[in-house]
Amino acid sequence: MNLSLNEYLAELRPLINVDCGTYTVDGIAFIVSEMTAKYAAMNGWSIKQIDCGKAGIGLEVRNKPDAEDIDVLLLGHMDTVFPVGTAAERPMTTDETKAYGPGVSDMKSGLLNVVYALRHIEQSVLDELSICICMNPDEETGSLYSVDWLQATAKQAKHVLVAEAARADGGLVKARKGMARYKMTFKGKAAHAGNEPDKGRSAITEMANWILATNAMTNFESGTTLNVGVVAGGAGANIVPDLATAIVDVRFWDNAEYDQVDTALNGMTQTPFVDGVSIELVREAYKPSMVPTEQTQALMTLVEESAQALAIKINWKEAGGGSDANNTAILGVPTLDGFGPIGAGFHSADEYLLLESITPRIHLLMRVLTKLAENKSKDKK
Ligand SMILES: [Zn+2]
Repeated sequence: MNLSLNEYLAELRPLINVDCGTYTVDGIAFIVSEMTAKYAAMNGWSIKQIDCGKAGIGLEVRNKPDAEDIDVLLLGHMDTVFPVGTAAERPMTTDETKAYGPGVSDMKSGLLNVVYALRHIEQSVLDELSICICMNPDEETGSLYSVDWLQATAKQAKHVLVAEAARADGGLVKARKGMARYKMTFKGKAAHAGNEPDKGRSAITEMANWILATNAMTNFESGTTLNVGVVAGGAGANIVPDLATAIVDVRFWDNAEYDQVDTALNGMTQTPFVDGVSIELVREAYKPSMVPTEQTQALMTLVEESAQALAIKINWKEAGGGSDANNTAILGVPTLDGFGPIGAGFHSADEYLLLESITPRIHLLMRVLTKLAENKSKDKK
């Protein structure tokens, strides 16, 4: 495959120079139209738009839309974390070694690498494999409007490859911590702190007890950690506070241990520390942890061999943050992440894409797909 970097960057540029933060549905619609045009031009791909409610449209692209099984599900997201105006403020630029711009590596180049891999792969691989590409519009805010679709599709799949960027040292991602975020609202009873403090029920005192109880659930050894990251409450020093709120971030490797935390927190809402205070607990975000299984190990070996054959240096990372890989790994489907080109500085103005990694990572993805096709055809014999 002879790849022209200039052509690649010309295809990448319009994907960067548009505001498409989650819920910026116009921008998402533009990415949808760009991706639709690319797959439509490749012949043999059926393209379906998925209604993702408030988040806009998702795209599902398949080469064998009637097949019951999906051999490889490729995942990528179309949204970024950046507010409207960012694309105009700092459109895509390049220097000798890197490209810059909002979403350049997280993860527009990942989406484009998938396109290039499928554009250039041998027809025999496409004949053998049932491939599905899902592009969702809301990964950056937790895939709330796309997770059901992604999981329903993943249930049909034998392997999931997520095209988030490879890490700065070339690493791919084999494991990701799970996460959950809770908003806690404490409602007490206001009273004058001088005249009748006994009539008040302090929401802040209740919250303080919760903070200590929440901290006590942290287990650094197993990796279950709780962080009370934001608190607010009270209206004045002379008023017993009737309202306080806290936001808590939970990270974990062990899904069962997290379930215990969730049960404990919900249980605590029934037994307030301060009589007369009520507690509302809302889970605003959730991703189970992604931990490699034996089948994932086999897929890792296949990826390692593919990389070795192409003289590409890879290693495996365990990431503290989640991606849609978490949502498919929990279903037991072997899932690996980091199949995009190398990048770093995600979610910041420092975000970059390493130009020299684009072609090798397209080749790596092609090689992995080719190997999976070979294995499938061997299994049939
Ligand atoms: Zn991403």
